[in-house]
This record gives sequence, C-alpha cells and structure tokens, in this order.
Amino acid sequence: MRMSFGLTFRTAKGCWVPNLSQQCSRGSTGLFVPPSPPLDSEKVKELQRFITLSKRLLVMTGAGISTESGIPDYRSEKVGLYARTDRRPTQHGDFVRIAQIRQRYWARNFVGWPQFSSHQPNPAHWALSNWERLGKLYWLVTQNVDALHTKAGSQRLTELHGCMHRVLCLGCGEQTPRGALQERFEVLNPTWSAEAHGLAPDGDVFLTEEQVQSFRVPPCSRCGGPLKPDVVFFGDTVNPDKVDFVHRRVKEADSLLVVGSSLQVYSGYRFILTAQEKKLPIAILNIGPTRSDDLACLKLDSRCGDLLPLIDPR
Ligand SMILES: [Zn+2]
Repeated sequence: MRMSFGLTFRTAKGCWVPNLSQQCSRGSTGLFVPPSPPLDSEKVKELQRFITLSKRLLVMTGAGISTESGIPDYRSEKVGLYARTDRRPTQHGDFVRIAQIRQRYWARNFVGWPQFSSHQPNPAHWALSNWERLGKLYWLVTQNVDALHTKAGSQRLTELHGCMHRVLCLGCGEQTPRGALQERFEVLNPTWSAEAHGLAPDGDVFLTEEQVQSFRVPPCSRCGGPLKPDVVFFGDTVNPDKVDFVHRRVKEADSLLVVGSSLQVYSGYRFILTAQEKKLPIAILNIGPTRSDDLACLKLDSRCGDLLPLIDPR
C-alpha cells in the first residue's frame, strides 16, 4: 500500500521524479543503515492509528533518519561511526581554546563539505514535510545538523543542535552561510588539496597532520574573531531559550513520535521525559533499542524511509 502523493521532487542528480518511493536508491546510501526486519503490516497499522488519532503531533528526529541519505550516525551497531572507527567528535572546549584544533577541524570540514552539503532528503524527510503541509505535524524537532528537513521544505522546525550550513563568529556572534566560507577557504588555500577518506555525521573527514598544518583558516571578516560552525559540539549545551521553546511545544502537543534516534543524548531525551510527565502517548521508530523503549506505547524497528511514506496523514 505504498502511497504516492502526486508530488514531484528533485533528486540528487537534479531530475524530477513523480513518487516519494523513488527518492532514495538503496545502493551507496544503504551503507550506513543498520539491518532491520521486514516491515510488519500490523505495526504499520498501529502507527497509522497513532498518527490518525494525533491532532497536535510533535516529531523528534535523530541521525537515524539521515542514514538513508548516506550520512552515517555515531551509535548504530556495526555501521555507526563509533563502531567503524576510533574517531570521536570534536569537543566544544577544545575547539574554543585551541587554534590548532580549529585548524584541524576546518581543514577536514573543508574537504568534506562538497559531499556533506550535497546530501539530499530521503522519503522520510519528504513524508514529514508533507505531513506539515497537510496540517498533521504540529512541530518538528531535529537533533541533526544536516539541513535535510529544510531541504525537504519543513518550516515548523527547531534544529536543536544548530545547522552545519551556517557559520558563527565566536567574537561578535555574526552568522554567515557556510557556502561563503568555502569560497574564502579556496582563495586562501589555492594549492592545498586532500582527499576525503570517510565522512562523519558532522561533515568531518580524516586527514594527515601534514595536510592539516598547511591549511589556512580565515577569521571573521567583521571582527577578526574565530569562526565555528553554528552547531552544538559535544561538551557544549543547547541554548536555554531554545530548550524552553521546545519544552513549550511538547507541552502543547498531544502525542510524540521519535524517528531515528536512540535518545542516548540528554538534550533530546529530556523532551521525552516532559512528554511522559504530560502523559502523552509516545511512539518510537528506530532500528535498535532506545533509552525510552519502556516509555513508548509503540516501538517500530523499521527503516524510516520505508515506513513513513506508507502513513496517510489525513
Ligand atoms: Zn566576528
């Protein structure tokens, strides 16, 4: 019962396709998606009932929704970054204090950017955007920094951890587009080149020390301060105003659907606790166990892009 909403979308290759199910090929993009059991039609019906009964649905998404777009997550068994490598994400305190850490970060990010920024939404992102358009989705909160919900057209959206497509000056707070910084990197490093050897969830790649040390990083063009992607690094905290805002949206909602998150990070998990206090029904769609499985009235271990387009939001 795969549904077509009669819409057309642009694919990664720039051609328009008439059907949500054709958005994402299984080839290279399947690399980072953990194995999952076949779709269970009874579970699909249960999720359909859950969505039909929701009048003010809040959806919270995590890295698991973007693995089907070819972006790896950190924590999935066997296919997540932690399982495949000994790489760990940049720590906020190190980035702010140490110029060499910023140099290494930006050199890697410069190499990874063309690929990271070219990732496209998959059928799960398009489905949630469609739910919003049809008035089903009250608010969308994402833990992802990949801009894929925005690319799919979602507007009632809070990017809890910021977005890699923006750059923030640590001196004056000015926000600028990441694409413009890429052009400044290219001007400053005309002969510098390196190949990307594996991409992390935040667009980071692997480089040698020699490559890093010769990379030149521009300062803020307004105040000369250091530049940081407008994202919450590990070891940093989410802006309290943003947290309050999301708590209010959760309290206004009548149900909560988690999509592609193991809820291991407290910044997302705390909203589950708020939903539980409010006694909201909670459904979780995630391959593998989550921190809140025992709080959910419905748990589904399916690929987000297989399941969400099957749900009729009307
Ligand atoms: Zn500045």
